[in-house]
Amino acid sequence: FVEIRHAQKSYGTLEVLKDISLDVERGQIVAIIGPSGSGKSTLLRAINDLDPLTGGEVWLDGVQVNKTLPHRQYEKHINEMRQQIGMVFQHFNLFPHLTVRENVTMAPKLLKKISDKEANALAEEQLDHVGMLERIDYYPAQLSGGQKQRVAIARALAMKPKLMLFDEATSALDPELVEEVNLVMKQLAQEHMTMIIVTHEMDFAASVCDRVIFMDKGVVVEEGPPEQVFKTPTQERTRNFLRKHL
Ligand code: ATP
Ligand code: MG
Repeated sequence: FVEIRHAQKSYGTLEVLKDISLDVERGQIVAIIGPSGSGKSTLLRAINDLDPLTGGEVWLDGVQVNKTLPHRQYEKHINEMRQQIGMVFQHFNLFPHLTVRENVTMAPKLLKKISDKEANALAEEQLDHVGMLERIDYYPAQLSGGQKQRVAIARALAMKPKLMLFDEATSALDPELVEEVNLVMKQLAQEHMTMIIVTHEMDFAASVCDRVIFMDKGVVVEEGPPEQVFKTPTQERTRNFLRKHL
C-alpha cells in the first residue's frame, strides 16, 4: 500500500537516508523509533514529497508519489497525492486567525469544492470524532495543546486520507495532555486507518502498532512486531537505544 524503495536523501555531503526500503500494508500501523537525527522526520516528509528524496521511490496505493514530471503536471499530481495523506506534526500548525471550524473546513472547501453546508457537516463529524465538537467556534489560542492536536487530527481526517503520518504528535505536550491525543490515535487504529507514527513513546508504540521500525543514522537497523523489537531486539544498537528509552 505504501512502498518505499531504496530511499536515499543527502543534504550536501551528509547522507541522512541510506537506501531505505519499507512496505506498509493497508490498515497497518507502523511506529518509527530511533535517536535524534536518525532521519525519522526526513523519511516521513519524503512520503508526501515535502522533503524530496535524492534517490529512490515512494508509492501510495499503486501510484508513485515522487514522480518526475514537468513543473505544472508535478504540481497537480502532488496536490492530488497530498490530499490523500494526512500529516500531523509536533507543533500544532493550526491557522491562528481561523476558528476550529474554519481550520477543518478550509482544505475540503478549497480542494474538493464542496459546499459550505457539506463542509460544515464534515467538520462537525470529524470534530465529534476527536471530542472537539464543543469547541468548534473557538480560536486555536483558546485551546490547550492537546485540544489543538486533536483539531489538527480532525483537520487532516476531513480530507478522508488514505494514510496518516504523525511526527511526534505528542512530544510538545504537557504530560497530562498526551493521553487524550493518544486515545484519538488509538481510536483511528481500531478503525484500521493506515498510519506511520514517529514517536518517542515506547509504551504507546507497543500498545498500538503492528510493527516497529528502529532507525539509526539513516538506516533501518531492525524491525518487527513490537513484542519482538522491544523484548528481544537482535541488534546491539537497538538494545542500546531501548536501554535509554524504556
Ligand atoms: P529527531 O528525533 O530529533 O526529530 P529525526 O530522526 O527526525 O530526529 P531528521 O530531522 O530526519 O532526524 O534529521 C536527520 C538528519 O538530517 C540530521 O542530521 C539533521 O541535522 C539533518 N537535516 C534535516 N533537515 C536538514 C536540512 N534542511 N538541511 C541540512 N540537514 C538537515
Ligand atoms: Mg524528527
